[in-house]
Amino acid sequence: MPTLFERIASGEIPADVVYEDDDAIAFRDLAPVAPVHVLVVPRRPIPRADAVEPADEALVGHLFTVARRVAESEGLADYRLVVNNGEGAGQSVFHLHVHLLGGRAMTWPPG
Ligand code: AMP
Repeated sequence: MPTLFERIASGEIPADVVYEDDDAIAFRDLAPVAPVHVLVVPRRPIPRADAVEPADEALVGHLFTVARRVAESEGLADYRLVVNNGEGAGQSVFHLHVHLLGGRAMTWPPG
């Protein structure tokens, strides 16, 4: 079964895509928690952060490059990158993704 984010990446499910290349796609979150809330997703479905293997390092690093590009195109100088690992940490889609949050002041620690 393809993951939700594979179905978005293939175009089967529509999304507001802000960036894509051969390895990753970035689209606006359906339920934004900040004025800018973009999900940066590898096309290859790694389920979660603790499933990342050494062979995935370039791909996972690429997500940070994509996040920076999207942040720049959104006019963000300050922003937060979040990865939820596991249900208890708030993960609901088991296809690795980085949340790019910006456009408002962020508090610490997160809830
Ligand atoms: P997480 O809870 O960290 O797994 O993040 C999953 C995110 O996917 C949530 O912030 C959801 O709002 C978002 N989401 C779920 N379905 C869609 C969709 N069809 N398009 C865009 N974002 C979605």
